Amino acid sequence: MTTIPTTQPEDAEQRRAIAPVICYPTETLPAPDLALYRAARRTARKVGEVLVPPRDAATFTVPAGSFFRISSVEGPQVGDLNLWNAQDLSERFYSGKTRALHGTHLTAGERMWSSFPDMRPMATITEDTLGWYGIDSFGGSVHDVIGTRCDPYTNNLLSGGQYHHCCHSNLTRALAGHLGVGPAEAEPHVHDVLNVFMCTGFTRDTGQYFMKASPVRPGDFLEFFAEIDLLGALSACPGGDCSSEHSSDTAACHPLLVEVFTPEAAALGGWTPPAPNGYDRSHGH
Ligand SMILES: [Zn+2]
Repeated sequence: MTTIPTTQPEDAEQRRAIAPVICYPTETLPAPDLALYRAARRTARKVGEVLVPPRDAATFTVPAGSFFRISSVEGPQVGDLNLWNAQDLSERFYSGKTRALHGTHLTAGERMWSSFPDMRPMATITEDTLGWYGIDSFGGSVHDVIGTRCDPYTNNLLSGGQYHHCCHSNLTRALAGHLGVGPAEAEPHVHDVLNVFMCTGFTRDTGQYFMKASPVRPGDFLEFFAEIDLLGALSACPGGDCSSEHSSDTAACHPLLVEVFTPEAAALGGWTPPAPNGYDRSHGH
């Protein structure tokens, strides 16, 4: 944040002392039935997996009512996750609204919300082995929805050059391969991510986005329940554990494992995918 010299009003301190209010109290947000999901998970069997190579991305699909797990394997590694409605790519993860509802970092019991006009839960986090981390003394925490994704445009702006393995490019290539189209057609579908395993925050003095070494270790995982049919894409960030830099080939990088698990049909009882948002879209017209 840039400080512009201004004249303080006489009541400046009183204004600063006004207590904040939560923008979106979540008491009325439909709550996931975690007990039901976890009971169903115990009946699930593995139906597929994909190993995401370092500095690259891969796609995967998850039917509504199934689970997917993202695991650290071999070494500490951060992942950038995109989600789409498998039948309609215009419905996709809305990082900004998810942040407004749940805060800067996600953990078990919180959800990845979709874009307007559907705006419904796409996936619910059911397990987070890094839930113990909390918020550290720097204001850092894990699994953020504040970063966008590392990308070659910002890299070019700040450092020059042409680097092709930023998460944005990895996700673009993976989606293009899945759809059977070129990168120019796939790129507009790529969107702001959930930064899986990434440890980030804002500096208290300047308000700048920071990253630090992820606490993730092999065996750690984040697991999700798919609320709708999902197409996912996961990039193993060229920043590795994001302890120093990204957008280059210098950091140590490791693969990430995505596994899909489907529960027994009866295990979810009367559960059905959430309906699209109830707003009538007339906008007062
Ligand atoms: Zn990245």
